[in-house]
Amino acid sequence: MSERVILLIIPGLREDDLARMPELQRLAADAAPLAHSFPGLSAVVQTSMTTGLLPRDHGVVSHGAFDRDCSLWSPKTTTVQTPAERVWTTIRAYIPEFRCKLIGLEPIAADHQRSSVDWFQQCPTDVSQTTVDVVEEAVSALRLGNHLLIARLLHLDGAGHVYGPESDEFAAMQAKLNEEIGELFRKVTRWATQMNQPEPLWIVATEYVIHPVNQCVQPNRVLQQLGWLTNTFDEHFSGEEAVLGGHGNLAWATGEYQCAHVFLADCPESPPAEGVALAFQDVDGVAEVLQEKGKQRRDLNHPNSGDLVLIAEPNATFDCSVGLVGDLPRGTHGSPAEQSEMRGVILASEPGVLFGSSAMADFDVAGIVLRQFGI
Ligand SMILES: [Zn+2]
Repeated sequence: MSERVILLIIPGLREDDLARMPELQRLAADAAPLAHSFPGLSAVVQTSMTTGLLPRDHGVVSHGAFDRDCSLWSPKTTTVQTPAERVWTTIRAYIPEFRCKLIGLEPIAADHQRSSVDWFQQCPTDVSQTTVDVVEEAVSALRLGNHLLIARLLHLDGAGHVYGPESDEFAAMQAKLNEEIGELFRKVTRWATQMNQPEPLWIVATEYVIHPVNQCVQPNRVLQQLGWLTNTFDEHFSGEEAVLGGHGNLAWATGEYQCAHVFLADCPESPPAEGVALAFQDVDGVAEVLQEKGKQRRDLNHPNSGDLVLIAEPNATFDCSVGLVGDLPRGTHGSPAEQSEMRGVILASEPGVLFGSSAMADFDVAGIVLRQFGI
């Protein structure tokens, strides 16, 4: 068991990429395919990794949250109540001196939105939102005595969305990421030698895989055409906080990339879920329409989910605005990790840490971390 664990979360990392990332390859003594939770979005997957739970249990089902009581949609996940315990809280209960540093995680995954003074005083974590100085932050966190370091390396996400995962721009970011991981590894090794400390255990986990896209679907335009969405203030559906019910709106969709949640107004005029499902089944670019049973099958049966959930085809992405779509992104993510090319990879710097498993899920990461601290 290592005394320190460094978990790097990397959006966009594929197993094949390792061949072009020698620094990353060097630290991997063990590797296995890794499937993300559905939907494959940062807030969702990171919460699965830090709690060991599926979205149906931790309740983070999208970026942003819809509050049914006041019909308010917020682009932030801050209104989601997820009492699920994070790994650092569990470890702290066993090891009182335990400390943890989180770098660049989504606030919901970092559980950084509880406002009670008590909680912050007891909290064993220090949180940084940086996505640029990760190496410096990480090394200084070790110097300050943190035992667990969780850092998200965002390099591939932007290039993956804008230029696509097969682009030169994506490859250039891959090279940069490889260099930074090498620099981090060397600095940590030097620190361990100087301080006469054992090498930390390194775990590297893909957040989600980015795949090419050539089609955009606008679920709210479908609802508008069917007469179920009449108030079309576009800003309401373009990532700003908004009251979506009322004003004659009977159904509306929120979400991004490859998962959209469709909510139905709680009034007698609302269309039946069955009718809405039928309407979306034939929409080009929609792969699946989930109702109650479907949500159960996809582990998304949580009250925070929409009455229906739409999954895009692998080559399609959702845009929940109702206006004209700008430039189509070249890459997207979110759909279930069913085919092997949609799965990422998990690496560990010591053999045996991944239980010799041939396939792992993002929520397994929590158990791997806990085990390293003897829990
Ligand atoms: Zn992304």
